[in-house]
Amino acid sequence: MSLAGLARLIWRTGRIAEPAPGVPGRPDHDTGAEAPVLPRALRGSVQVRHVDAGSCNGCEIELAAAFGPVYDAERYGARLVASPRHADVVLVTGAVTRNMAEPLRLTVAATPQPRVVLAVGDCARDCGAFRGAYGVVGAVGDVVPVDLAVPGCPPAPADIVAALRQVTGR
Ligand code: SF4
Repeated sequence: MSLAGLARLIWRTGRIAEPAPGVPGRPDHDTGAEAPVLPRALRGSVQVRHVDAGSCNGCEIELAAAFGPVYDAERYGARLVASPRHADVVLVTGAVTRNMAEPLRLTVAATPQPRVVLAVGDCARDCGAFRGAYGVVGAVGDVVPVDLAVPGCPPAPADIVAALRQVTGR
């Protein structure tokens, strides 16, 4: 097919993706949950730095799916970045281990304001299955202030995307 033919086909076909569900935290979303107060300056798009503070890697598999082609968090304005200096959101998985407490504090401190700390998974929220383990300092909220949390062991990719959409408002 020629380039012009391809362009005609694209123009004739139009968009075939299903419309996105309602924005989480807004009245049209089916959970009806109260929206947390998040910085308005981060609406539209955010850069996300992921920190594994002591996860079993179950949450990472779901996180990879959340940013993969099926759930595609990027279409709602959330993008993974390598440096906290470039990040608006610090997404933390796992209960915080002794070795990761200080790196987590430093990563959050290196992220410019305004920022959001997102605790993903039961371990990050309340230590989950690792509560009381000898190498665990505590939940993410015991080490750094947490703005938003996603429950589940592990949380579903759709729930991770929904939390990020609360930040971007898309
Ligand atoms: S919440 Fe579950 S899947 Fe995630 S790190 Fe903890 S044990 Fe693993």
